[in-house]
Amino acid sequence: MNRRPLVVDIKRYCFHDGPGIRSVVFFKGCPLRCIFCHNPEAQEMRPEMAFFVDRCIKCGACVKACQHDALNLAVPGRISRDKCNLCGKCAEVCPTDALRLIGKYYSVESLSDILIRDFDYYRHSGGGVTISGGECTLFPNYLSKLLNNLKNRGIHIVLETSGYFDYGAFQSKILPYLDLIYYDIKLADNETHQRYCGKPNTIILENFRRLITEREVEVHPRVPLAPGITDTEENLSAIARLLRKYGVKRVWPVPYNPLGLVKFQTLGRPAPKIQPTFMKQEQEQKVLEILKVKHP
Ligand code: SF4
Ligand code: SF4
Repeated sequence: MNRRPLVVDIKRYCFHDGPGIRSVVFFKGCPLRCIFCHNPEAQEMRPEMAFFVDRCIKCGACVKACQHDALNLAVPGRISRDKCNLCGKCAEVCPTDALRLIGKYYSVESLSDILIRDFDYYRHSGGGVTISGGECTLFPNYLSKLLNNLKNRGIHIVLETSGYFDYGAFQSKILPYLDLIYYDIKLADNETHQRYCGKPNTIILENFRRLITEREVEVHPRVPLAPGITDTEENLSAIARLLRKYGVKRVWPVPYNPLGLVKFQTLGRPAPKIQPTFMKQEQEQKVLEILKVKHP
């Protein structure tokens, strides 16, 4: 698909999301709608305004800047989203970064330049660039050019994916440049996946099977944890069985992060009704035990 991709954020000097020191690019847009999503600002492909109430000092600068009468200091969420045309003028004048326009377009060359800037850090730490989202594979043509630029400089590339992609486009345009894939498997049961993630898991599981059996690149399967949803014994055991079937020896649980719930509210969307706190140590231990039992 030949869409113009927007970027939510570029994080430099990261120690997560792959080996060494890395730059991580979060693309905007995802075909799934997981209710336990950590990055809901990366779900929609279009730009969005976010409002962080705890940063607002009620100075009124945004109200004066808005030509569409879309802001009101008396309203807790500030923005009338039906009036807002996403011009971003309010965010430009906000002194505390309480208003942010999320979603910025970079040409392939400008994004390549930003990422190549930290080449020495990557080289000395065994790091590189991680392409994330959202679902970055939505933009195979753009990614193909970007990754080609990075690979020409010898940069190690990790891709994070939900696995919901067209395998043909992925294989021809993205896969040749990758060194490592972090592949999320959330729910083994198709109906439960549809219920909590908005789409069936058939494409995800089939793409995973192909990647593992065709062995073109190293794949690390990850299980994003969501209490009462993905961390059940039934689901974890089913995922472990699936991995064992393909001879996969290791799986990486991703700790649950309830901060995603706050992000839903900053975007003017209702927060999903799920556990609002981090998982307890006992809950996480149980997860490790179930996965470890299946993968000694
Ligand atoms: S983005 Fe533009 S239209 Fe929307 S609230 Fe801000 S200034 Fe008003
Ligand atoms: S400009 Fe920023 S800090 Fe000032 S009232 Fe608007 S949102 Fe709040």
